[in-house]
Amino acid sequence: MLPTKKHRIALISVDGDPAAEIGQEEAGGQNVYVRQVGHALALQGWQVDMFTRRSSAEQVAIVQHEPNCRTIRLKAGPAEFIGRDRLFEHLPEFIAEFQAFQQEQGFQYSLIHSNYWLSSWVGMELKKQQQLIQVHTYHSLGAVKYSAVADIPAIATKRLAIEKACLESVDRVVATSPQEQEHMRRLVSTQGQIELIPCGTDVDKFGPIPRVAARQELRIAPDVKMVLYVGRFDQRKGIETLVRAIARSSLRDQANLQLVIGGGSRPGHSDGIERDRIASIVAELGLEDCTTFPGRLNDSVLPFYYAAADVCVVPSHYEPFGLVAIEAMASRTPVVASDVGGLRFTVVPEITGLLVPPKDEVAFANAIDRILTNPDWREQLGEAGRQRVEIAFSWHSVASRLTQLYNHLLAQTIPTKETKSQVAA
Ligand code: UDP
Repeated sequence: MLPTKKHRIALISVDGDPAAEIGQEEAGGQNVYVRQVGHALALQGWQVDMFTRRSSAEQVAIVQHEPNCRTIRLKAGPAEFIGRDRLFEHLPEFIAEFQAFQQEQGFQYSLIHSNYWLSSWVGMELKKQQQLIQVHTYHSLGAVKYSAVADIPAIATKRLAIEKACLESVDRVVATSPQEQEHMRRLVSTQGQIELIPCGTDVDKFGPIPRVAARQELRIAPDVKMVLYVGRFDQRKGIETLVRAIARSSLRDQANLQLVIGGGSRPGHSDGIERDRIASIVAELGLEDCTTFPGRLNDSVLPFYYAAADVCVVPSHYEPFGLVAIEAMASRTPVVASDVGGLRFTVVPEITGLLVPPKDEVAFANAIDRILTNPDWREQLGEAGRQRVEIAFSWHSVASRLTQLYNHLLAQTIPTKETKSQVAA
């Protein structure tokens, strides 16, 4: 269903810049989600403004992606990278800048879709000051995250309280998997309205490249058994488990086993610590000859890596959704993933890949070996993964469902003078 009128909406993602390079520092699934949802909503007729904070002096204030979709970077603290756990104090400035932007443009947004708890607070504060509909996607829940990590940051109490207030008060929370929805109900609040709308992926970008062509492009020999990881360097991603699993693989002594660990920042940036830690484990286990770190994989090479791989491993300790799993499946590559969170929803065990207990390097080694030693089954798993993504996880279908939700919520509000004028804008 198309928007009833050409309507201007704001996606707010203070900490996840939709125009940023993905795969480094804290830029990952949330940035991709906002960018792709923004793009798909614009194609469906919405005027989409995506708000984030400026995190470097070189960044332009407005990036026009396409006629109906742009990223707007507001000032919130110094123009430098600030980790998520230290951003809260800069949010009042972000709100003031957002309001100044509305004033300057002569309209007010009547619907905002906030992303991550920091932006949920921005939305809830704005809602006190102007009439608006707020839809929220968490991307990560403090209540789940903090049960899986050793270092609980000082901001945790505030985050948990805001996540609870958000679920209980915003117009609709979007859960991206049934597992996330269950966590919200069990660990956050029994009140508030949740709608299940999954994340999606680009089925035209991931999928069309044949494996042979991908390997030629990347200069990977046809007989190599290629195990792929794609993602940020963050302890919660469980890369250590994957490396230890490779050390235990029955194929370890074969010259053709290759582990490719894609993602990561330029040297000296924040995720460098985890990258260095992983590199030292690789060295300690004697895996340097069969492991490569190609760094951040940009859009022009990422589809080749997925297409070339024999198996893609997602060893996260916790994963609210996990875009990498569906990107690999769209590329006809089976997935071995931790049996947690959204990965339980996307990966169908024995059909599109395998699920194993998180942090269990023996189970990961066995699952990887099962796929690598059975090429026919690998092909079947890959085909089934592609079909599953085409049916359930395209950005187009995600945007159609969000459009229905937005229209439904907007239809319930009585337009004010401002919203009337901006509908016509
Ligand atoms: N990604 C990328 N290049 C890289 C590493 C990651 O484009 O070098 C992208 C990846 O394709 C996916 C996103 O970053 O779209 C990671 O999303 P996911 O939900 O798997 O994890 P998150 O970062 O949200 O924890």
